[in-house]
Amino acid sequence: MPNKYNDIILDALTTLTTDYAPLKGKEFYNSICKYIVKNFDIDICFVGRISNYSKSLVNVLAGCSNEGTLECFEYDLKDTPCENAINNQHALYVDNLEKLFPDDQMLKELKIKSYAGIALIDKEQKPLGILVAVSKCRFQDPKKIEKMLRVYVGSLSAEMERFNYEQNEKDLKKVAYFDPLTNLPNRLLITDKINTAILNAVRKKSIVAVCFIDLDGFKNVNDSLGHEAGDFILIETANRLKSFVRPEDTVARLGGDEFVIILSDLENTNDVSRILSRILKSISQSYHYQNNNIETISASIGVTLFPEDDVNSDTLLRHSDQAMYKAKESGKNQFCFYNVKEQNKMKANINALKKIEEALKNDEFEIYFQPKLKAKSKRIESVEVLSRWNHSILGLLSPDEFLPLIEKDELIYIFDSWVMKESFKKLKLLIDKGLKINFSINISSKQFRERTFSSKVFTILDDLNMPYDILKFVQFEITESSALESINHTNNIIEQLKSKGATFALDDFGTGYSSLVHLKELKIDTVKIDKSFIIDMIDNPHDLAITNAVISLSKVFNIEVVAEGVETVDSLLYLLKLDCDTFQGYYISKALCFDDLVEYLNGFCIDSDWKFGKKVKL
Ligand code: C2E
Ligand code: CA
Ligand code: CA
Repeated sequence: MPNKYNDIILDALTTLTTDYAPLKGKEFYNSICKYIVKNFDIDICFVGRISNYSKSLVNVLAGCSNEGTLECFEYDLKDTPCENAINNQHALYVDNLEKLFPDDQMLKELKIKSYAGIALIDKEQKPLGILVAVSKCRFQDPKKIEKMLRVYVGSLSAEMERFNYEQNEKDLKKVAYFDPLTNLPNRLLITDKINTAILNAVRKKSIVAVCFIDLDGFKNVNDSLGHEAGDFILIETANRLKSFVRPEDTVARLGGDEFVIILSDLENTNDVSRILSRILKSISQSYHYQNNNIETISASIGVTLFPEDDVNSDTLLRHSDQAMYKAKESGKNQFCFYNVKEQNKMKANINALKKIEEALKNDEFEIYFQPKLKAKSKRIESVEVLSRWNHSILGLLSPDEFLPLIEKDELIYIFDSWVMKESFKKLKLLIDKGLKINFSINISSKQFRERTFSSKVFTILDDLNMPYDILKFVQFEITESSALESINHTNNIIEQLKSKGATFALDDFGTGYSSLVHLKELKIDTVKIDKSFIIDMIDNPHDLAITNAVISLSKVFNIEVVAEGVETVDSLLYLLKLDCDTFQGYYISKALCFDDLVEYLNGFCIDSDWKFGKKVKL
C-alpha cells in the first residue's frame, strides 16, 4: 500500500491505465471511488451524472463510503455545493459548510464537514456530471484531495461521454426499431428477426413459421368507439400474442392492426397449427374497454414455412401476407398456409403465358381446318377451324397443350381475335379460288360472355377491309355452358350476328348435362354431339341413347346435327341410319393445314374415296 502522496498519485495513474482500463460504467466509477476513500481521509466518494430530463438533477451512478458501496440515488443540485462545483468546474469547502448551504439536507444528515467536487465535462466543456469526495472531518490537506480528484477527471469524463453516447444510440434504436404503442419490434426489425430465425433453422434443421396477423373488425371499433379504444385493443392484442410465444419467438407490429409472429425452431407443422388455433381463440375473446364489452374482434392469419418456402425474409413476409388474404376471403377468424406448390405452378403458368404471348407475336400459331361431310349433298360443305402452335422445339402442339392456360387469362381475348382474323383472311382466299366453303370458328366462353362480342367481330372485319356479308360463310361454335349461362345474352348476340348472315352451333353437346329442352330456347342453327358419345356409341347403349335423342329432338326443332369424332366406317353408317346430318372425324379427315385443305377440297370425290356407298345409300 503506497503511503506517500506522490506514490499514491503515481499508483492512481498506473491503475487507471492498467487495472481499470478494461472497466466500464458503474464498475469503473466504483473502483475509482473506492481507491479515493481508501487512500485519503474521505468518508464518501461518488460519481453523479446530470439527468437527461432536468439539468438540476444529478443521478448518482456509483460510489462508496467507509462502510461499502452506495445505493444509486438522485438529488437536486439547487443550493448545494455541487451546484457551485458544476458551475465553476470545481469547488472545495473545509469550513462553514452548514452555514453556506443551510438547505442541503444531505450534508446535514450525514454531518459532512468538508467537501471537494469537480465537474466532469465533455469535449465541448459542457458539464456531464460530477465527482464528489466528502468527509465528516476537516480535510487535512484539501489541495491534495482536489489534485487527486483532478487525476480522474479526464478518464471519468471520457467514460461518461461514451456511456451517454451509447445510451443515446440505444434510445434512438428503440425509437427506430420499436413500435411506441405496443413496445413490440416494428417493421424494420422484423427482417432481422426472420433472418436470424432462418440461420438458426438451417443450422438445426428445424422449421420457421412466419405468421401474418390482421385483425378482423378492428376498423369498426376504431370508428365507433374512437382511437383510444383502438389503441387499447392493439395493446391488448400485443399482450395476448406475447403470452403464446416462447422467448426465442418474435411478436412484432407492422403497423395499423397488422402483427407478425415468427415462430422459430419448430419440429413439425402441427406445432404451428396448435399455436395458431390457440391464438385465434384468444384474440376472439372479448375486450373490456371502459364500460364496453367488445366482442367483434378476431384475427385472420396467413402462414408460410421455411424451408419449404425457401425464399428470403422479405418474400416470406409477402407470402404470409398473401396467405392472410386467403384467410380473409375464406371467412376470417382462421389461418391459412401459403401453398408453395400451388404458387409455383401459378408462377410457371405466368411464364408459360408470357411465352404464348410472344409466340403469338412471332407468328408461331397457325390455323388448321377439319372437313365436315354433309350426308345430304355428299359434299364437304364446311370445315372447323382448329388452332395449332408450331413450337420451335416441341413441334406442332394441339390446343389441349396451350388453350386451358390461355382461357384462364385475359390473353384469350387476343387469341380469339387472332383466330377470327386468320380465319376471315383464309376464307377470303378460298372464296377467291372459287371454293365456296363454310368456316366454323370456336369462340371461348370468356369471349362469348362479353357484351361487345359482335362489335368485336365487326371491328376485325373493318380492320381487314372486308364486307360483313362474308359472315354468311361463318358459323360460331359456342359451348353449351357459356350459351346457357344467360339465354338472353346468348340470343342477343346470336341475333346481332345472324342479321349479317352468321350461324351458331352449340359445341360439345351432352357434356354440360343440360336439358335437351334448352335447345328450343336458344336461337342456334346447329348442335354438335360431343365426340365422347360418338366414339363408343356402338358398344355403349347409354351413348347411343343420348345420340339418338339429340338427333330426334333436333329434327323436331329443325336444327342441324353434327356428329364429332367419327373415327370408323361403322359409326358413320350407324349415324346415317339415325338420320344425322353432318359428320366430322378422323374417318373423314384430320385437321389439315391451309395448303393441304385446298388440295383436299379440290380432289374430294365421294365415290372413289368412300367405301360405304355399297352398304348404305347416301
Ligand atoms: P372441339 O371444338 O371439340 O374440336 C374438335 C376436336 O376433336 C379437335 O381437337 C379435333 O382435332 C378433334 N377430333 C376431330 N376428329 C376426331 C376424331 O375422329 N376422334 C377424336 N378422338 N378427336 C377428333 P383439337 O384440335 O385438339 O381441339 C381441341 C379443342 O380446342 C376443340 O375442341 C376446341 O374446343 C378447342 N379449340 C381448338 N381450336 C380453337 C380455337 O381456335 N379457338 C378456341 N377458342 N378454341 C379452340
Ligand atoms: Ca368446336
Ligand atoms: Ca366439340
